[in-house]
Amino acid sequence: MSNKRTEISELGEFGLIDHLNSQVKIKNSSSLKGIGDDAAVIDAGDHVKVVSTDLLLEGVHFDLAYAPLPHVGFKAVAVNVSDIAAMNAIPKQITVSIALSNRFSVEAVDALYSGIHAACEHYGVDLVGGDTTASRSGLVISVTVIGEAKKEELSYRSGAKVNDILCVTGDLGAALVGLQILEREKQVFLSNPDMKPELEKYTIVTGRQLKADARMDIIHELRELGVVPTSMMDISDGLASEIFHICKASGVGATIYEDKLPIDKQTFDTAVELNLDPITCVLNGGEDYELLFTIDQKDFAKLEKHPDIHFIGHITKAEEGKYLVTKSGTAVQIKAQGWKHF
Ligand code: ADP
Ligand code: MG
Repeated sequence: MSNKRTEISELGEFGLIDHLNSQVKIKNSSSLKGIGDDAAVIDAGDHVKVVSTDLLLEGVHFDLAYAPLPHVGFKAVAVNVSDIAAMNAIPKQITVSIALSNRFSVEAVDALYSGIHAACEHYGVDLVGGDTTASRSGLVISVTVIGEAKKEELSYRSGAKVNDILCVTGDLGAALVGLQILEREKQVFLSNPDMKPELEKYTIVTGRQLKADARMDIIHELRELGVVPTSMMDISDGLASEIFHICKASGVGATIYEDKLPIDKQTFDTAVELNLDPITCVLNGGEDYELLFTIDQKDFAKLEKHPDIHFIGHITKAEEGKYLVTKSGTAVQIKAQGWKHF
């Protein structure tokens, strides 16, 4: 060990994960995919298991000043299920680990678990274990989810091919804009507790922040239509960042079109009100938990009429780079911002 000290911020979150991954050597032939996708893939004989885990910290990922405990519980499950959806697999079991400070009562834990149970019903998963421990400050929730698929059903980040069509579900940017509204109203309340927060106008965007939902509905529909995306991931860090991940893993480039990007009217209007550029919110907003995927052109006709799947661009050769074509027709290079945790 030398005395050298490297700041984590020098590597960033993804650089740190690459650094950790470089120290891992897989020993078991059943470990089909390790670090680097939305979930790990484990051989289980006639099918594969997919496993993903996420850690949520009070004050970092949620703020109990405006996030009700049942919503926090639901979201903790939903963000994990979203990573299973991103593999084109079906979630089956979860484990839930919690760390609690003495600020929390049994009633508070019940409120948290009411959301966890509601999510288990909604996604058809069983809660099969976990761990409980004390925390010095605040609430920590870690959920692990296990899903199943047939090997040939899986969609990795690495399968996008030149000329594939880039698709996104739903609309983007709402969760980020919703967070800005919740933060603004919290500050107003803190400076004057008699003021009633003005939230009625913003229910769509605040709902998208507080009530995350994984797009399992889309996964079931893709199966019914007989479409296996050539690559897929969920949009947790922002569209631009996720396009970078797919392009890097697949060794390709991408062109997307501003006029094809899906944004809800309330997201657009609220972004403008907050002096934010709506397209920047779509490209860099996190926590939407929509799906980004690519399909072979032969599958386009099967999805063409789907009301909630948007065709935002196509895959190009790596050397052609990653571009956004604006409404005026200029191509600008996409920058991956993502969330900066460090
Ligand atoms: P997602 O946003 O889809 O949850 P992440 O960006 O958190 O994915 O993680 C990307 C990959 O890195 C995943 O394969 C994940 O399992 C892995 N990973 C993240 N943190 C660690 C860690 N501390 N140790 C080992 N693997 C990690
Ligand atoms: Mg993911």
